[in-house]
Amino acid sequence: MEETVIVEETQSVGPQTVAITMQSPSALTAEPGQFLRVTATIDDEEYSRFYTISSPDVDDTIEITVGIDPSDSGPFSQYLGDIESGSELSIAGPFGQHYYENSNRAVVLAGGPGIGPAVGIGDAADAAGQEVAIIYVSETATPAHRTRLNALADSGNDITIFTTASDSQSGVVPPEFNDAVADIITGKPAEQPFVYGFEDFITAATDALETADVNPDEAKIENFGWYNVCRWSSRWLHDQITISYTI
Ligand SMILES: Cc1cc2nc3c(=O)[nH]c(=O)nc-3n(C[C@H](O)[C@H](O)[C@H](O)COP(=O)(O)OP(=O)(O)OC[C@H]3O[C@@H](n4cnc5c(N)ncnc54)[C@H](O)[C@@H]3O)c2cc1C
Repeated sequence: MEETVIVEETQSVGPQTVAITMQSPSALTAEPGQFLRVTATIDDEEYSRFYTISSPDVDDTIEITVGIDPSDSGPFSQYLGDIESGSELSIAGPFGQHYYENSNRAVVLAGGPGIGPAVGIGDAADAAGQEVAIIYVSETATPAHRTRLNALADSGNDITIFTTASDSQSGVVPPEFNDAVADIITGKPAEQPFVYGFEDFITAATDALETADVNPDEAKIENFGWYNVCRWSSRWLHDQITISYTI
């Protein structure tokens, strides 16, 4: 499915982080944790990038959350950072198998823009009366999506936020990260760990899960880095060629 949709609303949800709400095509079915291929033309050049759904559902609208890294951002996230209501975007998808499926307890480890799927899954789980635990390592001193994280905490969910940007000595995750992960893993049946973020965060989170005696193969992990961009771009291209050939 590839469709042009109108941007209905944009909202700054933290430093260098914007939530973009778009019309949802009527035929679209997607789950939080899945992602879309978003395309736009910038200065006569077409760009496409992948963004994970950050709304709990896609019934009327779809939300994505875009982090704009001030030191490492490229043309597309900068464009989305300034996009206005009424603009058009082309979306294709959904892609990805690492989405929320009403597990009894969702444990989400989110790094940087991984906060998008974290709040999408968190709100979906909370609405379904399920438990959710989120550990979010923010790249900025003020974390993104504070309002939704506070609401999830107020409903009795386990929300832990670390900020690394305020401490230039810290690495991708703070030293307390592994203990925090071990603390929220209960080992209950149907507990489903999820990990979302860029490569370095995925490595740190996978190590933390292993240290907490969780087999990383049982976690649903989506890497936002170039390896996955290439993998999903070639998969999308393959699907287009197959569809054209069949027609
Ligand atoms: C499956 C998947 C899901 C994704 N979901 C999201 C999402 O929900 N929200 C989101 O903001 N991005 C998401 N991304 C990343 C997104 O597709 C773009 O790569 C990102 O927005 C940078 O695009 P750009 O055009 O600005 O920079 P590019 O020119 O494409 O890349 C610039 C460089 O910066 C790196 N980079 C950009 N931001 C960061 C960061 N915060 N930390 C570390 N490295 C960074 C990129 O990997 C690249 O090396 C996802 C990627 C994949 C593969």
